[in-house]
Amino acid sequence: MVTRTVSLFFWMAVAAISGYWLLPSSGHLLGAFFVCLFTVIKDLWKGQKITEWLRHNNVKEPPQMDGIWGDLIDRMRRILNEQRKQTQYEEQKLQDFLLAIQASPNGVVLLDPEGRIEWSNQTAAQHLGMDAKRDLMQHVVHLVRDPVFKKYYSSESHDGEVIIDGRSVSLQKSVKLSVQLHNYGESRQLLLTRDVTTVAHADAMRRDFVANVSHEIRTPLTVMSGFIETLQSLNLEKNEREKYLDLMAVQASRMQDLVNDLLILSQLEGSTLPSTNEPVSLQGLMSSIESEARGLSASQLFENQEPQILNFETPESVQLHGANKELHSAISNLVNNAVRYTPSGGLITSSWSLLPDQRIQFSVADTGPGIASEHLPRLTERFYRVDRSRSRESGGTGLGLAIAKHVMQRHGGELKIESELGKGSKFTLIFPASRVMLETESF
Ligand code: ADP
Repeated sequence: MVTRTVSLFFWMAVAAISGYWLLPSSGHLLGAFFVCLFTVIKDLWKGQKITEWLRHNNVKEPPQMDGIWGDLIDRMRRILNEQRKQTQYEEQKLQDFLLAIQASPNGVVLLDPEGRIEWSNQTAAQHLGMDAKRDLMQHVVHLVRDPVFKKYYSSESHDGEVIIDGRSVSLQKSVKLSVQLHNYGESRQLLLTRDVTTVAHADAMRRDFVANVSHEIRTPLTVMSGFIETLQSLNLEKNEREKYLDLMAVQASRMQDLVNDLLILSQLEGSTLPSTNEPVSLQGLMSSIESEARGLSASQLFENQEPQILNFETPESVQLHGANKELHSAISNLVNNAVRYTPSGGLITSSWSLLPDQRIQFSVADTGPGIASEHLPRLTERFYRVDRSRSRESGGTGLGLAIAKHVMQRHGGELKIESELGKGSKFTLIFPASRVMLETESF
């Protein structure tokens, strides 16, 4: 600045002396005036160039100037560079932040104070059936038209959440969404969506299960209460009383069976997976299952009826790594079902065989009534029965196949069901090779 001022005065002095020498009356004033004018015009021209440079925002190519203007340009360039870097950094941070929200499994929608969509991630767009770009600045209530949401949106405080149907096009699965609104900033709102289909499904299953259990227990309880009332109010003969007590014992044992099966199921769900190095002897396992099945078969035989034929083939010296109690439960449920559903004179065959890939399979086949194909996919559901009264009459709880399937899943195996109406059924359990231990090659 000082240099520039000195230089200006120097040139003004030179011009004034030259002017005075050429025109002694007013030449010195004219000389100084022309130097000032020239300096002003030069500065205006430089200022114009800098303005143009700033207007085009071309920070990388500043105009080349020296002196005070060069310093000014340099400083401006540095400030602009820093600002540019800061903006880039902020933009990158914003992008990272948006990418993180995009990656969220939950839907996020930002609403302006009027309730218009300012931004939404893809998950929210998918959940609510909208287009994240096309539907920007649309009012959220115009897109989410569910009455329950409209009511929630217009309520003063958005406490809790509302559940609405998702917009998924899948025909097999109806999607349930949890939608929540939160206030933020200046009258803005954040709308969060979450797929709660599995939770809703689990809730529905739990409700169904509790309803089923209550129903299953209520029936024998009602019958028992009736008998108790009769015994209390009527003066019955000894043999009649005994008949009623026998009937009550049947109902009590039904409830006991149901409670036992429920306990088995809850233990299966809550316990650790069966060990892979605890050997269970097939012979020992099958001999107790066989004697139970023969006892059951004899107990359901009426006078003059042809007995069922029970064939049991069990390999010697084969061991399965698994939980003895669980294996007993799964296999006895299948064998006992075959005995319970096959009429007198029918044939029940239980066998074990080794598959070429070293897996081992247990099968029980019967010549009973068979099961229509439409029931097969649902047979392992809890309390699903083809013939409810038949199941109850023969002491079924409706949980046997659910238990068998669960046990097989825990052992890494599978349950297969083949059946033909009027011909019979075959239930097969396949255990993975890793759980089989052959002591001899006699299989
Ligand atoms: P339940 O205690 O009623 O037998 P399960 O879960 O063991 O319950 O079996 C489910 C249903 O499958 C039964 O109610 C019955 O209708 C059918 N079922 C099971 N095993 C047989 C079989 N061997 N023959 C015919 N139907 C069967």
